Amino acid sequence: MTVARLEPGVGRERARAARTAGLGVDSGSSIAAASLATPGREPRGGPRMRKGTDRPAAPANLGSVPEGDTIHYAASRIRSVLERKVPQEILTPQPRHRFDRWPERLAGRALRSVDPHGKHLFLRFEGGLTLHSHLRMTGAWRVGRRGEQWRRSRRRAWLLLRWEDWEIVQFDGPVLELMSDARTRTDPRFSSLGQDVLGESFDEGDFLRRLRSDDQERPVGDALLLQRTVAGIGNVWKCEACFATGTDPWRALGRVSDEEALSLLRFCRLQMPRSAREGWQARPRTVYGAAGRPCPRCGTAILQRGQGDNNRLTFWCPGCQR
Ligand SMILES: [Zn+2]
Repeated sequence: MTVARLEPGVGRERARAARTAGLGVDSGSSIAAASLATPGREPRGGPRMRKGTDRPAAPANLGSVPEGDTIHYAASRIRSVLERKVPQEILTPQPRHRFDRWPERLAGRALRSVDPHGKHLFLRFEGGLTLHSHLRMTGAWRVGRRGEQWRRSRRRAWLLLRWEDWEIVQFDGPVLELMSDARTRTDPRFSSLGQDVLGESFDEGDFLRRLRSDDQERPVGDALLLQRTVAGIGNVWKCEACFATGTDPWRALGRVSDEEALSLLRFCRLQMPRSAREGWQARPRTVYGAAGRPCPRCGTAILQRGQGDNNRLTFWCPGCQR
């Protein structure tokens, strides 16, 4: 078993989240290989209020938090540069990986495949070694040309892979580990995941079985985020799916019919491929981040409130979402 490093400690992760909060969006590169999304951090503990107003402020970096579409977008960019090629240079600038010898262990090995699953990304190299990444809310992938300006500080790069004049950079972890292929099949973090919402084929019966094996008192919005039910839906897509289908994200799962649950899922499966191809800017922006504005369907002011164990900021219209 070749396990390089487990997830960072919670304290370090919180500190990193605090450092990265409020940074600009990592986009706007003039070339095709634009930067991948730089996520923002949602405020915890309820809505932030704008100074001198009773309207809540929108979350920083509106709508750019990594979700399944972000990961598929990163995967296709990385694939186009490095698949079936041997990286010509591998750097691991993050001090925590100083003694892990990834450059030596991966030297001369071609990247066999780039496999997203939900919010996880697996870079599989020859010789049964896989780099696993999970961006949570603070990490980012960037694919670009050498010499271009990075939107994040070089000190925040955890991994740099070079091929000719291309650079693939992983910023800010927070989960980046080298492991055996075998472990990617047996580790319960991965084996317990539901189907990838962006998977080409999808078994809706399996989705419903997993949904119904969950606590039926759980609000449906929170249930959509459970990666063991379906992998890849995050908070932005949760809010947009609930709005599009007229579903109150606070309604208990037990009062959501199978047909309603499937309509939420189908909205994501229909809409997410576009931002998986084009980047998070292509996501719908109907309700997420729109607190205080009138609902485009019924005119009622859109509300926001933290939901679930992680207090994920939830936006919904109390007028037309039932
Ligand atoms: Zn409405």
